[in-house]
Amino acid sequence: MPVKRFDKTPMPQRVATTRAHDFGEVNEGYAFEAARFEAERCLRCQDPVCIGGCPVAIPIPSFIHAIATGDMAGAAEILRSANPLPSICGRVCPQESQCEAQCSLARRFSPVAIGHLERYVADWERQRPVDVRPNITHPEKIAIIGAGPSGLVCAGELARRGYAVTVYEALHAPGGVLRYGIPEFRLPKAVLDWEIEMLRAMGVEIVCNVIIGKTLTLDDLSDRLGFSAVFIGTGAGLPQFLGIPGENLNGVYSANEFLTRVNLMRAYDFPESDTPVRVGMRVAVIGAGNTAMDAVRTSLRMGAQEATIVYRRSEHEMSARVEEYHHAIEEGVQFTWLSDPLEILDDGTGWAAGLRCRRMRLGEPDASGRARPVPIPDSDFVIPVDNVVLAIGTTPNPLLTRTTAGLATNAKGCLIADEETGLTSKTLVFAGGDAVTGAATVILAAGAGKRAAHAIDDALAARRSAEPAGVGDRPTFQAG
Ligand code: FAD
Repeated sequence: MPVKRFDKTPMPQRVATTRAHDFGEVNEGYAFEAARFEAERCLRCQDPVCIGGCPVAIPIPSFIHAIATGDMAGAAEILRSANPLPSICGRVCPQESQCEAQCSLARRFSPVAIGHLERYVADWERQRPVDVRPNITHPEKIAIIGAGPSGLVCAGELARRGYAVTVYEALHAPGGVLRYGIPEFRLPKAVLDWEIEMLRAMGVEIVCNVIIGKTLTLDDLSDRLGFSAVFIGTGAGLPQFLGIPGENLNGVYSANEFLTRVNLMRAYDFPESDTPVRVGMRVAVIGAGNTAMDAVRTSLRMGAQEATIVYRRSEHEMSARVEEYHHAIEEGVQFTWLSDPLEILDDGTGWAAGLRCRRMRLGEPDASGRARPVPIPDSDFVIPVDNVVLAIGTTPNPLLTRTTAGLATNAKGCLIADEETGLTSKTLVFAGGDAVTGAATVILAAGAGKRAAHAIDDALAARRSAEPAGVGDRPTFQAG
């Protein structure tokens, strides 16, 4: 059927029955003609409200106009000027609640597919040779803790501004959630690897298998290793649990453990890889955010016959990207809405066998602004399961804050940092991303890393100009 101008140009995607059993990417990306056709739908409004919907204020109409006129290099340059991770954000940003929600076309038709176009341009750029080299012009060296999007973007921005940067990462591979959480079928690791190689080419050193707060303390970075400033981008990787009976049974995973085993440790390749994951015939995933959707779709790919989302509210309150929800439906995921898990049942041998739930109805909005789920009396029911995966949220890991004197946190364990600069309670120690906001999004983490890099540069430049020559390279962030 021909595509009408008031519809989004559809994203070509692999057939659901095939893709639901492998880890190949679901979306195939626009071809040139499709991208140009979609770009021509942009009205180039006098008041480009879409920009206001983007957390990093990409000049959206300008990069789309460049596509429409065939100037891909120009489009790539405009995109990168605002967003250092366009090939990733084009794939995973919740555009439907950000830029595309503001698009003027959306009032009557479907919005311009801004995310698909962003991905198109970034993928075009990735196919071209790039000429990037180290250019260290400043005496100070900077340490970054955590190689997730906030840390990587901060590192890139500082390297671009002439600093020697070292990123310390606890895991054996960089990328943060982009590596261990978001599966290959949504974000191919080759895309992430390309971004990381670019950073390395710029001279950024990435040191894996180092836990700051254990292997080294934060103060060691200044006192022993001579770093002048630090950015903390340690994320929010500590899974939350429901506290219901049966959570310790075999076959019950946190989504973080489940996804890390599969994505980072390649459990799908066991015994060729070292790490197994046991996935039975029936998997229930509790929660309805991106993490839950990734876990439930991964369980299908790992061989589950029945994969079910269990959520205590309705589909209208779920926080997952709409595209992932639609893909999950196409792939055969089932949804048990308005159901609150009360207990995981034991099969008598210590393995999970059932998930006892209570039916809910929606009441008045709660503090989150979403309708509050209210239990319906005498409505318990059991979902037979072999595995239960909990995807109900994460919080920052307290390891670093517990081992660092003077680093202030709020009641939720998030680092307290200035919204604009990322400056924490310690001099020349900055922070951003999920470690500050709690679990959020890639683009917010990237934006925070970029703002902090600029603030670090400003602070060091100010210090340099205030001090006599030759003193600027001494470490000065406060040790407690
Ligand atoms: P992270 O990505 O968490 O990276 C932090 C890094 O720091 C990790 O590599 C960690 O190992 C390392 N680290 C932690 N402590 C230490 C330490 N003490 N020393 C050294 N290193 C340390 N967002 C979207 O926008 N769209 C999506 O579709 C989406 N899907 C998601 C799916 C899943 C499964 C999950 C879990 C999250 C998803 N998110 C999504 C959220 C998004 O990935 C995060 O908001 C984002 O990755 C946060 O970036 P960050 O840099 O703050 O932290």
